[in-house]
Amino acid sequence: MSLKRIAIFGSTGSIGTQALDVILQNPTLFQATILTAQSNDQLLIEQARKFKPAAVVIGDPKKYKIVLEALQPLGIVVYSGEEGLVEAADRDDYDMMLAAIVGYAGLKPTLQAVNKGKAIGLANKETLVVAGDIVMQRALLKKVPIIPVDSEHSAIFQCLVGEGRNKIEKVILTASGGPFLGKKPNFLVNVKRDHALQHPNWSMGAKISIDSATLMNKGLEMIEAKWLFNLQPSQIEVVVHPQSIIHSMVQFEDGSIKAQMGLPDMKLPIQYALAFPNRISNNFPRYDFRKPNTLTFEEPDLKTFRNLAMAIDALHKGGNMPCVLNAANEIAVYAFLKNRIGFLDMTEVIDRTLQKITFIEQPTIEQYFETDGEARNFAASLVNM
Ligand code: NAD
Ligand code: MG
Repeated sequence: MSLKRIAIFGSTGSIGTQALDVILQNPTLFQATILTAQSNDQLLIEQARKFKPAAVVIGDPKKYKIVLEALQPLGIVVYSGEEGLVEAADRDDYDMMLAAIVGYAGLKPTLQAVNKGKAIGLANKETLVVAGDIVMQRALLKKVPIIPVDSEHSAIFQCLVGEGRNKIEKVILTASGGPFLGKKPNFLVNVKRDHALQHPNWSMGAKISIDSATLMNKGLEMIEAKWLFNLQPSQIEVVVHPQSIIHSMVQFEDGSIKAQMGLPDMKLPIQYALAFPNRISNNFPRYDFRKPNTLTFEEPDLKTFRNLAMAIDALHKGGNMPCVLNAANEIAVYAFLKNRIGFLDMTEVIDRTLQKITFIEQPTIEQYFETDGEARNFAASLVNM
């Protein structure tokens, strides 16, 4: 395999830093040529000194000068702001974008990379939730592979290798259930930020940790799966599997079910996406079937975790509804993280926003941008921000 040049968008995050670890372990396979961060200038500078990329982006314009002064002498090009992300994505000097920015902010640079014909390693699920039809169409047109990094979708992707055109009956996304599995609304109403951030099996960024606690994450993943694997909503099922050993499954039309398994470690799907179609060796801990352990499965509690029910509804309605759901959720999670609203208030904000914004059946990309803005403003007005 020749040296693959990786652009890590969101290099200072949970996925981004783990991707850099993978690159560090495999210097003959990968090279980081672009790094980006929103506000953590110090970590970005440290990463750039170590990995010597051709270019970096610092999102926060107030940090631009600091980063420029540190990195320009090393011959590193420094961009800033939202436009800087798109300019960096337009560069020639990378082969794959690892899309690891969190939220809607990842959409434009990822679209730019697709337009440019670059392969995508996709962690940023919100990109497909917001505008999956358009992103996948463009990828098809440009013959760009989109390799999932999200563990469930990586699992499905791995189960599909070698299956050619064999028909999928359904996919079964596993969910850990998050820190509040088995809890009821009378408990959830008092849940605080720090408790909600404690995930039992994974250590992740703040936004996805809250989404995992509300089960919104699984709803976003159902929508992500629809676009990645060209599925009907009725073909996507969720099952709670608290041990997070089976990362997801595919059931084919003959009833045979394939599962992808392993200890929960995001470095595995990250390195799989970077190295695809190859596998590369590592010394991560292995799952041991000889140790006493029970794998259990149960139905998600949609009455308690209403965010998942709303996401399933948006998945079925389609159009701009997933985009509205995502925007309202981003505002609600942000407000919860700032201790402005309670845990169950997040559901209220999303519900009211979904009822408010006008349905568009087949939005253009501009209409997706507008929908996002409208939904965001309305949701923000509900939480006084
Ligand atoms: P994180 O919060 O740890 O990191 C986010 C990264 O994006 C940081 O580098 C940050 O600087 C950058 N960023 C944040 N806001 C930005 C903005 N407005 N503009 C530009 N850059 C911005 O998040 P994470 O946990 O690494 O998650 C990243 C993405 O991967 C999310 O979409 C998440 O759903 C997905 N994902 C994460 C995990 C995980 O284990 N962390 C697993 C599956 C999927
Ligand atoms: Mg996931």
